[in-house]
Amino acid sequence: MLIDTHCHLDFKDFDPDRDSVIDKAKKAGVARIINVGSSMEGTLRSIELAKKYDIVYVSIGVHPHDAKTVTDKVLADFRALSKEKKVVAIGEVGLDYFRNLSPKEDQISAFKKFAHLAWDLNLPLILHARECGREILDILKKEKKDKISGVMHCFSGDKDILKECLDMGLYVSFTCNLTFKNAKALRELARQVPVERLLLETDSPFLAPQEFRGKRNEPSYLTYLVDEWVKVLGLSKEDVERITTHNANNLFKLGLGETSKIVYPIRNSLYLNITNVCTNACDFCIRNQTPFVKGHNLRLDREPSAEEILEAIKNQITPRGCEAVVFCGYGEPTVRLEVVKTVAKELKRTGVKVRLVTNGHGDLINSRPTVRELVGLVDKVSVSLDVDSEDKYNKICKPEFGPQTYKRVLDFIKSCVENKIETEVTCLNLPEVDIKKCENIAKSLGATFRLRKLGVTG
Ligand code: SF4
Repeated sequence: MLIDTHCHLDFKDFDPDRDSVIDKAKKAGVARIINVGSSMEGTLRSIELAKKYDIVYVSIGVHPHDAKTVTDKVLADFRALSKEKKVVAIGEVGLDYFRNLSPKEDQISAFKKFAHLAWDLNLPLILHARECGREILDILKKEKKDKISGVMHCFSGDKDILKECLDMGLYVSFTCNLTFKNAKALRELARQVPVERLLLETDSPFLAPQEFRGKRNEPSYLTYLVDEWVKVLGLSKEDVERITTHNANNLFKLGLGETSKIVYPIRNSLYLNITNVCTNACDFCIRNQTPFVKGHNLRLDREPSAEEILEAIKNQITPRGCEAVVFCGYGEPTVRLEVVKTVAKELKRTGVKVRLVTNGHGDLINSRPTVRELVGLVDKVSVSLDVDSEDKYNKICKPEFGPQTYKRVLDFIKSCVENKIETEVTCLNLPEVDIKKCENIAKSLGATFRLRKLGVTG
């Protein structure tokens, strides 16, 4: 399932064959298209398209080229149009100093008006920025102090502007120009976008992919862009599709149901989400921000039984060429140790590698030494130690077993090593953490060490 978050199907280019273009898009897996109004007329046409085609949604706004037409009356009309069904965003609005078809002061004034309209209506912004440096970001920061909901469409800035967009909470999208043979620098830049903040767009009819360069672009060509992102980010096609679809659904509220997952693939591994309970309450935990990890909804309605887990993974191991099955999810797996053991035992019959990602509280949770019970069932244990001292652990991870927990986690790691289970200690690159010290702790316990980046999961 794909979402084209930026299209102009209302343009004359599509008059001869709009029905078949949308049909082709559906056949290519495009589940939603956001048709972006770039003028009052374009917005009205877009609303009509949304009425006619089930997969079309609308963003309303005036392109900076026409900023000189934005009077208070026009803005009031747009406010009224925002009540139409399937209007999901304000845009495209912004600054375009490349062609300067409207005077700069008109562009700035219109942009501010539309930005405030978006905030009044609680709608995301679809931003257009060309040759305006960081001015658009400065305006946004001055007009609104907190995070901005929206997307920087057809990104054309440098790495500093990219970082600033991400820091401000914006999503970013690149069009099919990412596929151009000569777009090496753009691809280098694109590699720095966390996939959790990426949207797909064709900007049809503009910027067709390399295969059709110079011709009309259309939403079904999104598949070429996906193929490019697979190469750029080193993710699977399924990952790119699922994560960007979730991102768009999350930003624009497109009504796509995302049911919770017990089993979720990331790259070549299958992850098992067997509980949402955890005995830590870490400040940095992703559960404080979102139920989604790599586009998978991990908020369980209820805890699955061992049988349900095995049923869910039954058909996914061999055909996908699964590298490993990982107990990870959205809580601490050893809270359900018996389920871990039952499922792992079945998995080992298939010859697949089994990994356990844990906070290392297994002995405390189960009130007994547990590592020996995992021997022969779990090939590798990754223990999230996260910090380099007991004080920091108590302050940042807030263990429910109290101040002695850090020491017990170290004992758990030691026990894994002694029981000859491949053991890895992971820490986070938090500013207050002494990474070298963490590494030394891991080494002294006989485990390997891996540094995880804050905010990067899976
Ligand atoms: S141990 Fe993991 S799941 Fe538990 S609170 Fe900390 S980060 Fe979240």
